[in-house]
Amino acid sequence: MRIVRDVAAVRAAVRDGGRVGLVPTMGAFHEGHLSLIRAARASCDLVVVWLFVNPTQFNEASDLVNYPRDEDRDAALAAECGADILFAPPVEEVYPDGFATTVTVGGIADVLEGAHRPGHFAGVATVVAKMLNMVGPDVAFFGAKDAQQVAAVRRMVADLDLPVAVEVLPIVREPDGLAMSSRNVRLDADDRRRALALSRGLAAARDAAAAGQADASALAGIVADELAKEDLAAEYVAVLDPDTFTPVTTVDRPALIALAARVGPVRLIDNLEVHP
Ligand code: AMP
Repeated sequence: MRIVRDVAAVRAAVRDGGRVGLVPTMGAFHEGHLSLIRAARASCDLVVVWLFVNPTQFNEASDLVNYPRDEDRDAALAAECGADILFAPPVEEVYPDGFATTVTVGGIADVLEGAHRPGHFAGVATVVAKMLNMVGPDVAFFGAKDAQQVAAVRRMVADLDLPVAVEVLPIVREPDGLAMSSRNVRLDADDRRRALALSRGLAAARDAAAAGQADASALAGIVADELAKEDLAAEYVAVLDPDTFTPVTTVDRPALIALAARVGPVRLIDNLEVHP
């Protein structure tokens, strides 16, 4: 596996590479990231892993400063999973002096994460658009963990006619249910235990929906009750159409329940599809 830092080098490396798969990441790899790299390896001729802690998508300075980084470890794991290229550009390569263009996705990106993290999705959409143009992959791999990001990226790809297929892989969880996240390393033992209320609440709502509870606010209430048992309050719990991210009031077809909550020093997100 080669580590590449600039656009010219990554373009030269992917030329005549056959079917190119791109895995966008901010590093601090866990099994969620590795599942994307393995999926890319299984279906592409050339696998590029993008590793860039994108400053423009952080709306809290402390979150950016404390974001875990370990490029050597990430490089070793990416290589083990069969990546061909680790594209880890410095900030100046992505945002050179004079950079002044922003991609804004309307609708989907205005709610939930978009409402609670001002500027977040503009940062995401802009860096994803740039990354796709820098690398020119045939397919890009994303995780369902960031469901709203997936919906916003799909919207942007369709709206801007970007020539890439978007593939989405399921959420990878710890054995006890906690969705894997790079930020989990910042939870102490007690917060790590309390954080289980997120996945437990979602699972309880899924079970209630399967047992016939179709009222979206009742399902959201089940999640909130589970959080409250651990003294946690959600920033939002929303029952949504998975493609448009518009609210659903009655779960008469598959819907997504998405939530965000602060646990100790970190803000965690999770989601689960529920079926009537
Ligand atoms: P990040 O490095 O957190 O920006 O995530 C990079 C990619 O990995 C995104 O497409 C995420 O949705 C995906 N990802 C993060 N956590 C998980 C997880 N637990 N399961 C599956 N994919 C994940």
